[in-house]
Amino acid sequence: MRGVVMESAGDVRVEDVDSPRIERPTDAIIKLTAACICGSDLWPYRGAQPVDHQSMGHEYVGVVSEVGADVQSVKPGDFVVGSFCISDGTCEICKDGYPSRCVNGGFMSGAQAEYARVPLADGTLVKTPGVPDDSLVPSLLAASDVLGTGWFGAVAAHAGPGKTVAVVGDGAVGLMAILAAKQLGASRIIAMSRHASRQKLAREFGATDIVEERGDAGVQAVKKLTDGYGAHSIVEAVGLQESMMQAIHSARSGGYVGFVGVSHGVSIPGSDLFAKEVHLMGGPAPVRLFLPNLIRLIWEHKIDPGKVFDLTLPLDKAAEGYKAMDERKAIKVLLRP
Ligand SMILES: [Zn+2]
Repeated sequence: MRGVVMESAGDVRVEDVDSPRIERPTDAIIKLTAACICGSDLWPYRGAQPVDHQSMGHEYVGVVSEVGADVQSVKPGDFVVGSFCISDGTCEICKDGYPSRCVNGGFMSGAQAEYARVPLADGTLVKTPGVPDDSLVPSLLAASDVLGTGWFGAVAAHAGPGKTVAVVGDGAVGLMAILAAKQLGASRIIAMSRHASRQKLAREFGATDIVEERGDAGVQAVKKLTDGYGAHSIVEAVGLQESMMQAIHSARSGGYVGFVGVSHGVSIPGSDLFAKEVHLMGGPAPVRLFLPNLIRLIWEHKIDPGKVFDLTLPLDKAAEGYKAMDERKAIKVLLRP
């Protein structure tokens, strides 16, 4: 079958690779309907993370083609959405609502391909009410990671009625956090973005205000919009030092910061943390927890997160997709196997 392999930084190829097989009785094999390129795939692409002949892809929707002997919840022919984190759904951490830190779990890989093996299928996959209309596929795919991650950012930031939410980062996750904050009932949503096309999408997803400044100037702009207090809820969707500090300092005391940008070189000074008195919660999103609700919202046409995909390519052109995202010419790329 065909699959995307990152040979080294900046070198993405679509190659003939071995088709996945059932390795454990808890595995499922799915035939991918769609996959996509994640912002986090750009870290190794840019050399910020080591990579050597890596099978890429952890966001996926497709049809189950085969299941192991112990799989109960899905069967061949089911259309499924899976989390980018693998989870058993049964350990104490999963039961506490953190399947992304399952003690038997791990991270999905190899989903930018024609077929993929999903370990711990019962705890990782959720089947949709039926085979979706093709127009729903991008939104269901978004639920697999980018929407689920933005959603977690908004939940971790305690976005809700009466709250002002500020979102640091206008990539796909930041945009999804805006959609989530709106769904969760936030009164005011400040998008921190300086790109016209992303500002437009941010407004479509529910942003009420735009702040173009970054760093301290961005913090001051948020304070100005909130009577000097700062926002109740901040979602950090970048993962760098400046964005994390911008997030913490944009929160009012007693506020909440949900950080979902994969942390790269972030170090929070204890004195800043002590002085701010804010709640911090973040990490890899427990997408599996949110999937049933997200699938329902998509199925009932209440949300349209699929709009975040602004470039669709056949799988064989994956390298072009990576380049477009790296150069910020595309927000998020959908791949059709
Ligand atoms: Zn678990």
